Amino acid sequence: MKGSDERARRRWREAENLMHILEAKSTRLADGLEAEGLIQQEASQTPTTMLPAVARGHRGWFHPCARLSVRMSSTGIDRKGILAERVAVVTGSTSGIGFAIARRLAQDGAHVVISSRKQQNVDRAAAQLQREGLSVAGIVCHVGKAEDRERLVATALEHCGGVDFLVCCAGVNPLVGSTLGTSEQIWDKILNVNVKSPALLLSQLLPYMEKRKGAVTLVSSIAAYFPRMELGVYNVSKTALLALTRTLALELAPKDIRVNCLVPGVIKTDFSKVSHGNESLLKYLRECLQMQRIGEPEDCAGVVSFLCSPDASYITGENIAVAGFSSRL
Ligand code: NAP
Repeated sequence: MKGSDERARRRWREAENLMHILEAKSTRLADGLEAEGLIQQEASQTPTTMLPAVARGHRGWFHPCARLSVRMSSTGIDRKGILAERVAVVTGSTSGIGFAIARRLAQDGAHVVISSRKQQNVDRAAAQLQREGLSVAGIVCHVGKAEDRERLVATALEHCGGVDFLVCCAGVNPLVGSTLGTSEQIWDKILNVNVKSPALLLSQLLPYMEKRKGAVTLVSSIAAYFPRMELGVYNVSKTALLALTRTLALELAPKDIRVNCLVPGVIKTDFSKVSHGNESLLKYLRECLQMQRIGEPEDCAGVVSFLCSPDASYITGENIAVAGFSSRL
């Protein structure tokens, strides 16, 4: 009799444990579904206070919901996006690498302000990301124009209340040719857009970023390590960005703002069409890289999210190549 009581008690304890496990699992599942927007509750609790102008229906402005993605962390524990409630400004972000970075930062929870020179590109990119349920706004900004940079800063502040991350992706190469054959006008254009504009934009944002311990990512190129003959002044501008990264990292470390640099290799975008559209160069790249493929814009996105995240809190002044291979020691 005693033995069967003991067995019954043990079965009861096992059943109780099982109930607890199932309860915990279903809570986690509900959290996940809610964060993914798959159950209704969230819709009525849309956080609009952070984005007061959202509901006003600006043309091409924020999706009226900052729905955050849920990502499985390396520990296997569900959590809200690692960049939840942070604000990112990404320049040159309506296509290619900048677009992939903007999407990833938004998927990881950030409110993202995308921008580029052409209104139709801004509208198209913003609409696409908003359709994916991401909290994204778009505004025209030619980074080489002071008035456009001012408007970008003012708009980000007005609509998001501050800025945590700046990613400077806009870059140009208007000439394929030698350095010494380059006119002064072209020199000015390349250095203005590629090198000066990230520093000038950052100086405008700094008073707001320093209250929030932000992070900056500049976008250089593998051409900074291995200059290519035909890329002349572009090589120079991208090498200058490595120096800018290290200088700004030093200057801003006391303010707890980190500055790092993404160094893409050949990535399949409109910008690199000349490279990836050229069969013999493509063959050469495949043989050199051993990876048997050139990069995709998405290959560059995760590393920028990481550099913005608290996981990179002790990383500054670094250049990180996303190039299939880099012989830099
Ligand atoms: P992409 O696909 O051509 O996209 C360039 C983006 O920048 C577009 O959204 C474009 O939109 C915008 N843009 C161009 N000039 C601008 C300006 N003055 N102000 C603001 N926005 C501007 O190019 P990508 O390949 O992604 O290149 C992005 C960055 O990566 C560049 O800095 C480039 O140097 C660097 N990079 C690329 C590669 C590669 O293989 N793709 C390799 C190394 C480095 P609008 O036309 O509307 O302005």
